[in-house]
Amino acid sequence: MLYNSTENKNEVVSASQAIAQGISKDGGLFVPQELPKYDEETLKSLLPLGYKGIAKKVFSDFLTDFTAEEIDDCVEKAYTAEKFGSDNPAPIAYKKFNGNDVNILELWHGPTCAFKDMALQILPHLLTKSLKKTNDGKDAVILVATSGDTGKAALEGFKDVEHTKIIVFYPVDGVSPMQKHQMNTQEGENVKVCAIEGNFDDAQTGVKKIFTTPEISEKLGENNMMFSSANSINWGRLLPQIVYYIASYCELVNDGKIQLGDKINVVVPTGNFGNILASYYACCMGLPVNKFICASNSNNVLTDFINTGVYDKNRKFYTTISPSMDILVSSNLERLLYKLSGDNAEVTREWMTALKTDGKYEVSAEVKDAVKSAFYGGYCDDEMTKATIRKMFDEQGYLCDTHTAVAVAVYDQYVSETGDKTPVVIASTASPYKFSRAVLDAVNDGRELPDNEFDMADLINEITSAEIPAPLASLKNKKARFSDVVKVDEMPDYVLGALGVK
Ligand SMILES: *Cc1c(COP(=O)(O)O)cnc(C)c1O
Repeated sequence: MLYNSTENKNEVVSASQAIAQGISKDGGLFVPQELPKYDEETLKSLLPLGYKGIAKKVFSDFLTDFTAEEIDDCVEKAYTAEKFGSDNPAPIAYKKFNGNDVNILELWHGPTCAFKDMALQILPHLLTKSLKKTNDGKDAVILVATSGDTGKAALEGFKDVEHTKIIVFYPVDGVSPMQKHQMNTQEGENVKVCAIEGNFDDAQTGVKKIFTTPEISEKLGENNMMFSSANSINWGRLLPQIVYYIASYCELVNDGKIQLGDKINVVVPTGNFGNILASYYACCMGLPVNKFICASNSNNVLTDFINTGVYDKNRKFYTTISPSMDILVSSNLERLLYKLSGDNAEVTREWMTALKTDGKYEVSAEVKDAVKSAFYGGYCDDEMTKATIRKMFDEQGYLCDTHTAVAVAVYDQYVSETGDKTPVVIASTASPYKFSRAVLDAVNDGRELPDNEFDMADLINEITSAEIPAPLASLKNKKARFSDVVKVDEMPDYVLGALGVK
């Protein structure tokens, strides 16, 4: 299977090149030239395989220049019971909300308690093998812009992985105190963490610029290094996410919740559009999905896009209690537009160029219709988010995080608007203890608010009896190693300094 850039069909690479490089030279994103097809027989054959077995099958269909042994090795190293708490890294919690069944796919049992672990525990293994194959013997420099969860998950995935270095940028006021503490206490000899004065989009734009500045790449080349990305623009991030949609479907069948062949709806709390795009790819491969429900917070640029076909990032930016979705430029949408425009790189490039120059574009009528028929877009504000956490806890004794609550709230809107009660998978993307302040606000009944995240976590635990994940509890006594803050235009200099090649 070969991959090409969404902005230039002549830019064709192998799977390992796509993963090693992260982003195409022209600024486009790598996409598979065609998708493997899973018919009902294939899905049936996956039912008894378990998560790792399904992962191996999916990876082998996409990473055709990897050997079966290599794929085995990556999967076995990534999804251990030690790291994910059990042999099923993505269990489903069967709950009800407002009288409707909600099947909550818990994607946060990994080492950093957010769904990013599902991809970032395996990406370093895919990447180091890809680098060996592409055979330039260079060390990979991973640059990450994070709205909070990616950064920690990438640091944890890459720490002390040979021939890699990782530098993470986060918006100084755009992540939760727990997320900040998780990153600033990161261990490992090959890691650096730096805050920027700006929001997530500034961090992401800054990283993209560093990637595409030839002088910086040359400097790295001279020092036997090359850039790579662990952001969700890297194909090696997206692919592992396809796995859990297929695995969750199998789990629903195995648990007798649906029959093989039945359609499901998928709800995803969305920021950069990576997670929901993975479910869309799974559907293109043959997974029976009826509707993709794209849930946003007050930064509802995607809701508007799905409803109007106009993507316009020129709007107020809100800092919300679901910070991992505080995003106005959803990078992975580019891959969807490419697909829905019939693999049209010219028109995709036009829209992306308009986004860069005007902050806005409007897709063609055909693409608009295609988006609208597959996707439903909705959003919910902070008050509604908290009310949803509260209601879910009161009715079911189940505590969910702010991002998951956005998804549940938007799903509830969807059902009341459409009456569609197709069985649903709702992606639950983080542990509630990553966002203790807001979760506590939601479930607290008049107790005094503690002044630090760890005491808040203890109080939530006292009120709800929900278990505090061990990786978060153990942070309490760790000292911060990193405290740098730079301006956006200082990012290139910071990178060269951190790599010792200034
Ligand atoms: C990253 C993240 C999201 C958004 O996922 P995308 O793939 O960027 O759309 C949602 N929730 C949490 C907790 C996250 O960390």
